[in-house]
Amino acid sequence: MIEVRQLQKSFGSLDVLKKITFAVKPGEVVAVIGPSGSGKSTMLRSLVHLEEVTGGSIYIHGKPLIENGKYAGNADIREITATMGMVFQHFNLFPHLSVRGNLELAPRTLKRGNPQEIAAKSKELLSKVGLADKADVYPSMLSGGQKQRVAIARALMLNPDILLFDEPTSALDPELTGEVLRVIRQLAEENMTMIIVTHEMSFARDVADRVFFMDNGEIAESGTPEQIFGSPRLERTRTFLNQD
Ligand code: ATP
Ligand code: MG
Repeated sequence: MIEVRQLQKSFGSLDVLKKITFAVKPGEVVAVIGPSGSGKSTMLRSLVHLEEVTGGSIYIHGKPLIENGKYAGNADIREITATMGMVFQHFNLFPHLSVRGNLELAPRTLKRGNPQEIAAKSKELLSKVGLADKADVYPSMLSGGQKQRVAIARALMLNPDILLFDEPTSALDPELTGEVLRVIRQLAEENMTMIIVTHEMSFARDVADRVFFMDNGEIAESGTPEQIFGSPRLERTRTFLNQD
């Protein structure tokens, strides 16, 4: 479903992704952990073409987004990345739109269904994340946890079959992380394919099928949560886990 081969990205002389190779199967939940600056966000952003990479290949559902350093055409890129939704640390909601407006903007713009269908879908997804009563409220009126749940509902509006999360709870007060993690956990139970960059080790341990430890532009170590948290192979993984 996601296949990444020899992915490379540099900013000037800084090599941020050093020939990263991995695959994620349908329904799999991968947690990505690792120190600040190790390339976690850049890796996620590359998958949805928010970052132009320098080399390698990315296949989504077998279709090349980039193959041996050469990108697909623009129409293909849009089609491929539309199968993925992304949720960011800082929510990135549109402040001038209501909650419902945030959810409905992309499907309306892309004409994914008629207005009634789109409205029904946004209502259903707001209930799913426990915010049925907030449809007409503006983002500034919401708590951080509520904003993030809106962002998740918004990401689901286009029926993605892959969701990418970049530290979805690290901007939240500790008492608000639980409500967001519960929504992500529910998506995992529904077999959504997900890559979750997170600092919440106990959550990663719980929800992930596999854990990638990124360090210095590489996936230094990967394995089941039991392996990575229980008996990490590398000294640098141990050091990272111990300081957290
Ligand atoms: P964090 O845990 O702090 O979010 P990260 O693992 O997500 O870190 P990235 O944001 O992917 O790390 O950054 C990896 C490296 O790339 C860092 O050294 C960062 O400074 C650098 N970098 C990221 N974006 C840019 C950019 N637009 N221009 C130059 N360097 C960048
Ligand atoms: Mg990051």
